[in-house]
Amino acid sequence: MTRTILVTGGAGYIGSHTTLVLLQAGFQVVVLDSLCNASAESLKRVAQLAGREPVFVQGDIRDRALLDQLLAHHPVQAVMHFAGLKAVGESVAQPLRYYENNVGGTINLCQAMAAAGVFTLVFSSSATVYGDPATVPITEDQPVGQTTNPYGRSKFMVEQVLGDLAVADARWRVALLRYFNPVGAHESGLMGEDPNGIPNNLLPYITQVAVGKLPELAVFGNDYPTPDGTGVRDYIHVLDLAEGHLCALKALQTRTGAHVWNLGTGQGYSVLEMVRAFEAASGRPVPYRISPRRSGDIANCYADPTKARKELGWGAQRGLPDMMRDAWRWQSMNPNGYSGGRN
Ligand code: NAD
Ligand code: UDP
Repeated sequence: MTRTILVTGGAGYIGSHTTLVLLQAGFQVVVLDSLCNASAESLKRVAQLAGREPVFVQGDIRDRALLDQLLAHHPVQAVMHFAGLKAVGESVAQPLRYYENNVGGTINLCQAMAAAGVFTLVFSSSATVYGDPATVPITEDQPVGQTTNPYGRSKFMVEQVLGDLAVADARWRVALLRYFNPVGAHESGLMGEDPNGIPNNLLPYITQVAVGKLPELAVFGNDYPTPDGTGVRDYIHVLDLAEGHLCALKALQTRTGAHVWNLGTGQGYSVLEMVRAFEAASGRPVPYRISPRRSGDIANCYADPTKARKELGWGAQRGLPDMMRDAWRWQSMNPNGYSGGRN
């Protein structure tokens, strides 16, 4: 039987790559996205690559009537829930907007799911719930909740809500996927990350410097307790991440309750290692300047992905050169992202 998956936020960066992987695996996909941080062009590219289209509903996860209608019209068996706001700085300035969208929106979604008899949910959580970890690599049983901003707290709160829900009602099957640092793009160069305005994240910033849109990279601090003094993170190719969602969905078939899995590679790279790897993959120089630390940043953050390997049968397959090559192909083929068309 063909299974139908509702993908909230499916026009966004990670959701669009996951929608593609779901279609390629034979699922029917219904995407619900408000397009508040995405372009419908991403779904056209998905259709081009998959050879068939997802159903697209433009709307908001906070709209209960719309959710009820959607779930009544489509035989949804599970939900992958990517929809959310994700800019840390913005969340500090607009906490109510973040809590309403990320926490309130998720509660509304769960209420609509329960009313429709859909109890399988894969949720986009984040390594940010670990705060500044006491030790690395980070295992799932390390303490969570010492988050430093409203965005991170919204992820932590949703984890608590979903955990409580799974305790209260044994029909729920929930995957809390703690992503490390998603980067890269589809290898075709047709799909990738299309940040709004000046990127906050490292790799989109690097690619925009390389393509000439930004003059230089500011390296936020070189006095951290790391091998070269710059921050260390676990960068994971977005397609590896997307495939992790399919493995989590499969794992939920044999599990009830809420389950946490880290989705990372287990390998940490510093900012300067990222710059060098990008230069090697692209052949482009990336001028940079050492700058003050960014407030709220931590020194080291990388996953212990053993639990996902054991329980999901999943592990990242793509290395740093693949991430760099694909990020650069996407950026150079689409200097203005989805709005600029292909140049
Ligand atoms: P994204 O902004 O590209 O995608 C999120 C999508 O959700 C966008 O298309 C946006 O239009 C949509 N959306 C937002 N609020 C909505 C609402 N109320 N109703 C309907 N649609 C709405 O972000 P992404 O990088 O693809 O992230 C996907 C998820 O993964 C988010 O929940 C994010 O917090 C989480 N996450 C991302 C990262 C990262 O570094 N990219 C890391 C950890 C976790
Ligand atoms: N970083 C940087 N310059 C930038 C953006 C990020 O030096 O313009 C550093 C940042 O301090 C961190 C790493 O790159 O050590 C990853 O930052 P990003 O914002 O991509 O992810 P996160 O902080 O959420 O892990």
